[in-house]
Amino acid sequence: MTRIVLATRNPGKITELRAILTAARPDYDLVGADAYPEVPDVKETGVTFAENALLKAHALAQATGLPAVADDSGLCVDVLNGAPGIFSARWSGRHGDDRANLDLLLAQLTDIDDAHRAAHFACAAALALPDGTERVVEGRLLGTLRHAPVGDGGFGYDPILQPLGDTRTCAQLTAEEKNAISHRGQAFRALVPVVRELVG
Ligand code: IMP
Repeated sequence: MTRIVLATRNPGKITELRAILTAARPDYDLVGADAYPEVPDVKETGVTFAENALLKAHALAQATGLPAVADDSGLCVDVLNGAPGIFSARWSGRHGDDRANLDLLLAQLTDIDDAHRAAHFACAAALALPDGTERVVEGRLLGTLRHAPVGDGGFGYDPILQPLGDTRTCAQLTAEEKNAISHRGQAFRALVPVVRELVG
């Protein structure tokens, strides 16, 4: 079995990536960064999703000597010139406070009408090898922002992003429905042939 390590301690992401990668190659042994507790978390000092995903993947590949996969994602709002972007997880100032981040964003957009509420989720997925080889691919989920949160599923900004062509928010989709169209699903699926090429 070829072992690949994932630069996340989020069990949801590990399950999602395992489902996508092992569908293509059941012989991959995918483990989360939790399997290597001695490896410190990396500071996300990049200024793009791709830079941050590559930083995390390289750090883990160097520390473990294994191929490493990492992702970085966020919400980009057109009228805010792409913000919150890489600051999505800490837009309100408190890292990971999903509700405060969403409330602040809605407050900032109060006067913006539906015609100008385009936004997308973006995800960069990176593969790094211990020898320094790297690849990064990206995925996007286009949509518009609601004026108030709707739905109980998902996380983060899901309750306010309505995918193009749907009448529901991401928080009203099943996990399968969201994975099929999501930025992360697209990026991870695009990474499968890259992993096959570079890892074997
Ligand atoms: P990370 O890539 O896990 O660090 O996610 C960064 C932040 O982007 C999260 O904290 C969320 O606020 C936001 N985000 C990323 N992907 C999604 C998504 O699929 N739904 C809702 N919010 C997301």
